[in-house]
Amino acid sequence: MMASSFRNNAILTDRLLRNWIRCKRKAWLDLHGDETKRLWSAHRTLQLDHQQKSFAALITQQPGSGKKALQEGYLGVVGVRLKGITTKGFAVEAHPPLLQKIKGRSRWGEFAFRPVLARQGKKITREIRLSLALTALLLEKEQGAYVNNSLVISQTSKGLEKTQISIREALKEQLQNSLSQLHNTLNQSNCPPLTSNRKKCALCSWRGLCNAEALAKGHLSEVSGIGGHRREMLKAIGINNLYELAETNHHFLKKILQSNGEQQSDVAFQLIAQAKVQAKQIIEKIKQESIFPELSNSDGVFVYDIESDPDIHEDFLHGFVKIYREEKNSQELNKTIYHPILTLYEHGEAIAWKRIKAIINKYASWPILHYGETEALSLCRMAARQGESSETIKILKERLIDVHDRLRKHWRLPINSYSLKTVATWIGFNWRQVGSDGPHALLWWRQWKGLGKNQRGNSENIKRIFKYNQDDCLATWEITKWLLKKD
Ligand code: SF4
Repeated sequence: MMASSFRNNAILTDRLLRNWIRCKRKAWLDLHGDETKRLWSAHRTLQLDHQQKSFAALITQQPGSGKKALQEGYLGVVGVRLKGITTKGFAVEAHPPLLQKIKGRSRWGEFAFRPVLARQGKKITREIRLSLALTALLLEKEQGAYVNNSLVISQTSKGLEKTQISIREALKEQLQNSLSQLHNTLNQSNCPPLTSNRKKCALCSWRGLCNAEALAKGHLSEVSGIGGHRREMLKAIGINNLYELAETNHHFLKKILQSNGEQQSDVAFQLIAQAKVQAKQIIEKIKQESIFPELSNSDGVFVYDIESDPDIHEDFLHGFVKIYREEKNSQELNKTIYHPILTLYEHGEAIAWKRIKAIINKYASWPILHYGETEALSLCRMAARQGESSETIKILKERLIDVHDRLRKHWRLPINSYSLKTVATWIGFNWRQVGSDGPHALLWWRQWKGLGKNQRGNSENIKRIFKYNQDDCLATWEITKWLLKKD
């Protein structure tokens, strides 16, 4: 892909720098890409929401806005755009989310400022460090005083976590090198290749464009099981795409993988077999035994799906769809009833567990289907926390059936991922709320949760979460039915 309207010597902004660290192609597309191809993601809104909560916990006074607020010495200042030229002559710009007043001496008086960033995950990444260093570089000129340290914060369930980051010479040097490389990337006329770690793509606004290119070119990352490391290894031995992998001899590949430290002995065979079904667009049965023997005599099943807030390790919604025969003599399980159970902080987990038990114990012989290992782990851990005996937990475990695990053991499908979304969409299931996904559900939850039981947000959001969670359960059931038909 070539840039349609090429902008040479672009200003190197903190945003471009952050995106370049994530993926060089992303920074290039941000500058030269077709804006109409961008897709919205709830992830950015979640980040901003977390940032706002973290900043509010750090600076309790209303922050000032713009450069005048710096001069007036507000405790926190937002809305400042800092500009400058680096020693190598690059035009740079930063839009710091927050500047915090600290002790010191600046051109405005007996105080100075330092940059503050909110982090979402646990790690203080290179992206955070270099963003802080760029802001520090520009802030020094603005305030006429050195910026020797900065602050990274995160509001968690345990309170506000703070980490000071020193702006040392080594970090400044890294910044200058990265800015030079960013400049080179932005000034190349061709779009950089797809990132080798395509996990990052799920949250990127350019994912539609890049996924289409990966599919069209048979990019190796399209083969389920190939991450960045394996892809580089395959490319090093001349296997450049999915079609070439599909034609590779597995004994040859096994030797190469083993000499590169691969532990699993059948991985070469698995990768080639997966590439083959994708290249030929066929399905392949791996195991002949019945896929769900537990369902053959059952009067009904539960399908179970959890919605979680990973940042605070909270499973806030346990959704069960009860599926049974509408007519006693009907061959099919066709009637569905949805039971959403919220775990609200003010009620505590014990109440949620009591409600879950009441539902699943009413039909104690019914299997509980779920997609992926998370649900089984979370439910059994919850049972243990609530004091259930090891015998009860053993019985619960026996009822839980991981549809994803059974699918992987019995079938190969011509798809690039075996996630619930990909598999269910491939067999023709549609989520009722277009564009909804896990981050979206989390955003609705946080917006509804508000500040507690007396300050809830829009009730429409909780209805949207229930609908999304119910659809996840129904998608799991559609996959199960498809597998049963193929059995
Ligand atoms: S979708 Fe992936 S490859 Fe494309 S720009 Fe984003 S992170 Fe990079």
